[in-house]
Amino acid sequence: MNIDFDRSACQGHNRCYSLAEALFDVDDEGYAILRLGDGASAEVPTELEELAQLAADNCPEFAITVTP
Ligand code: SF4
Repeated sequence: MNIDFDRSACQGHNRCYSLAEALFDVDDEGYAILRLGDGASAEVPTELEELAQLAADNCPEFAITVTP
């Protein structure tokens, strides 16, 4: 599974951080930071795939997408 994070779409609700702290951090202004890869795109380790899907499903701005 791959995860893509569109930082320009992030509005800082921090739902991703609350639900999937292993994948997301929060910057000083409250916007999300993808902990994996280059911060924009990464391959998700198998054990984190469920969390990645949860974060994508719960981002109200559709800033997070996962592809199998
Ligand atoms: S849930 Fe979406 S909009 Fe909210 S902080 Fe995370 S990536 Fe940004």
